[in-house]
Amino acid sequence: MDISYILNELGEERSQYFNAVAPPIIQTSNFMFPDVETMRRMFPHEFELPIYTRGNNPTVEILRKKLAALEGSEDALVLASGSAAIATAVIANVNQGDHIVSVAKPYSWTTKLMQNFLPRFGVTTTFVDGTDVSQFENAIQPNTKVIYLESPNTFTFELQDLAAVAKLAKAHGIVTMIDNSYSTALYQKPVELGIDVVLYSASKYIGGHSDVVAGVICGTKEMMRKIFYSEYMTLGGIISPMNAWLMIRGLRTLPLRLERSARTAAEVVAYLENHPKVRRVYFPYSKTNPQLELAKRQMSGCGGLLTISLETDQIEVVDRFANSLKRFLLGVSWGGHESLAFPASSGYADGTAQPGDTGFNLIRLYIGLEEPEGLIADLKQALEHI
Ligand SMILES: *Cc1c(COP(=O)(O)O)cnc(C)c1O
Repeated sequence: MDISYILNELGEERSQYFNAVAPPIIQTSNFMFPDVETMRRMFPHEFELPIYTRGNNPTVEILRKKLAALEGSEDALVLASGSAAIATAVIANVNQGDHIVSVAKPYSWTTKLMQNFLPRFGVTTTFVDGTDVSQFENAIQPNTKVIYLESPNTFTFELQDLAAVAKLAKAHGIVTMIDNSYSTALYQKPVELGIDVVLYSASKYIGGHSDVVAGVICGTKEMMRKIFYSEYMTLGGIISPMNAWLMIRGLRTLPLRLERSARTAAEVVAYLENHPKVRRVYFPYSKTNPQLELAKRQMSGCGGLLTISLETDQIEVVDRFANSLKRFLLGVSWGGHESLAFPASSGYADGTAQPGDTGFNLIRLYIGLEEPEGLIADLKQALEHI
C-alpha cells in the first residue's frame, strides 16, 4: 500500500465529521447506547467497537489502522508508552514457569522487566549476545515461549538476523518479538522477515516532536485480540485520544523527518569517522561495523542515532566534550526534531569509574532536523575542548 495514502487517507472517514481534513479528537471516556438490545449486541465486540475508551476510541482507531498498514501487519494496539507496549506484549505471551530468550542489553526497562519483574511470577529469561543465531538455538528450553529481539539496539547497534531467528522460532513454536524503534517500519519490515510481534516506542520517530510518550504493538488480528482481552484491558495502559491525535499528526511527516535525520546522520558519521579525537563510531551502516552486511541486507535505511567513543580514558574528558556542546541538547530519548547528546558518563553516579571500565566513554548522538553544517560545527568546537 502506498505510504502517503496510509499516512494521509487511510482510516479517515471525513464525511462523518464535517469533511474536516484533520480528524476530531474524540475526547470521551464513555459512549452511550440507544437501547438495551444494542448494549447486549455490542458488549461481546469490545475489540472492534467503541464502548468505553479503555477498549476502543475512534481517534485511537484511526491511528491503529495507519500503524498496522505501515507495518504490513493485520492490526495494531497503541499504548501509553513504549515500555507499556513491551511489557503488555511480553506478559501476554508467558505463564508461570515459562522461559524467554532475549538479546542481551535490550532497552533498560525491558531488561528490568525480564530481570526483576517477571521472575516474581516465575518467568525466567536467558540473555544471549544474539549476533549469531546459534546462540538463540542453544538457549532454547522446552518451556521457552518468547524470543525477544532488539535490532539494532539503540546504543551500540548490535543486530540479530531476523529471518534466521524467525525460522528457528517457528520450528519450535516460539513467539518472536522485536523492538523496532530504531528503524521504524520504513527502514525495517520484521513481519516480512517472519517476526510475530513488532514493538515500538512511538515517543521516538513515530510521534517525532518530543511531545508525546506512546507505544505500539503490531501483529496478527489473533495476537492483538488475545492481548486486548487480557493485558491490554486488564492493565489498561492506553493512550489518550489527544495523544493519539498528536501521533496521527506526527505520522504525516514521518518519511520526511526520518529521511532528513538519516541523511544528516550519515554526514555526521562521515565527519566523525575521520576525526583524530574520535576513537570509534558506532552506526549500523558504518564501514567499521562488523555486521554491516547484515545491516544492509535486512534494513533499507539507517536512522539518526549513532554513538561515539573519544580518544581518551578519562571520564572528565568525556564530560567536558558533552558540556561543550551548544546545539546538541543533553538528554535521553531521541526521534524528535532536536539533536541530542546522551553521554554514558552521566550514569556514573559519583563521576568516577573503576579501573579498566571504559563504559563511560560512549556518547550517543541523535541527529534531529537541524542543518548538518551547524551540527558538525558544534561537534568540531566541542572536540577542540578535549
Ligand atoms: C525509549 C525506548 C523504549 C521505551 O519507550 P517509552 O516510550 O519511553 O516508554 C523502548 N525501546 C527503545 C529502543 C527505546 O528507545
